[in-house]
Amino acid sequence: MVLSSPRLKKLKHIKYLLLLIPFNALAILSVANTPIPGGIAVIDFQTNHANPSAYYSKVPVYVQHINDTHWQALVGIPLLAKIGQKQLTIKDFSERHVNFDISDHGYQEQHITLTGKKKKYVNPNLAHMDRIKQERPILSKARQTFSNEQLSNTNLIRPVDGVMTSPFGFKRFYNGQARRPHTGVDYAGDIGTEIKAAAAGRVIISDSFFFNGNAVFIDHGQGLISAYIHLDKRLVEPGQLLTQGEIIGTIGQTGRATGPHLHFGVYLNQTVINPNLLFNHEI
Ligand SMILES: [Zn+2]
Repeated sequence: MVLSSPRLKKLKHIKYLLLLIPFNALAILSVANTPIPGGIAVIDFQTNHANPSAYYSKVPVYVQHINDTHWQALVGIPLLAKIGQKQLTIKDFSERHVNFDISDHGYQEQHITLTGKKKKYVNPNLAHMDRIKQERPILSKARQTFSNEQLSNTNLIRPVDGVMTSPFGFKRFYNGQARRPHTGVDYAGDIGTEIKAAAAGRVIISDSFFFNGNAVFIDHGQGLISAYIHLDKRLVEPGQLLTQGEIIGTIGQTGRATGPHLHFGVYLNQTVINPNLLFNHEI
């Protein structure tokens, strides 16, 4: 029997989705409240509504049913958010607001030197700028994906076993020039090391980009998206449904990478957050 035939793969996915349904009401993402830039504000609320929604800065946020009338919103806080009081809007039978506070968090600085051919990633030329401009809306559309369906109902698993070489949130300087802070975590690994899907979901991007190199983005539902960057090989196609742990590609050093590694990024409500917050810490 050929286990990898597309038809069997499809059947496996259908079976998986059917299995998910009875557990949906019980399964939740377990997250500690970390209302800091790059963190997740966990906001509990009560409602009798069957399908409430919540918004932060007009963007829909992840909402999960805990039990009975108890619901929870998981709000991704932008790395560059100002500290102070913020507001979550809840829509059920009417509209109401919940205030919460963002506290400060000092992220360290990291200085990176790019030499030789990799210098083009510090100050890209005009042709590269054109490519970057063309890619920007594709990436921002991916980040804006919001599927109401629950494609995953578990905490994330680490996509590779390698050592974490660069933590989330570092303020970055390339050849002395300030650039965006580090928007994910980096794992070291040899070229060709297999990368696993951190959770079940649907592939929304499998393509090649200027900064990201070969990249795969997976939609896990409710605005939770994971991104796998600088890959050597991409082994999935857009639209493909994945189970947690399925191999999606291999570690590489394509794009703005100084050596072989996986950059792993996670988005909630279109905002990069610290992926460590969504791992299952009980294991
Ligand atoms: Zn990185």
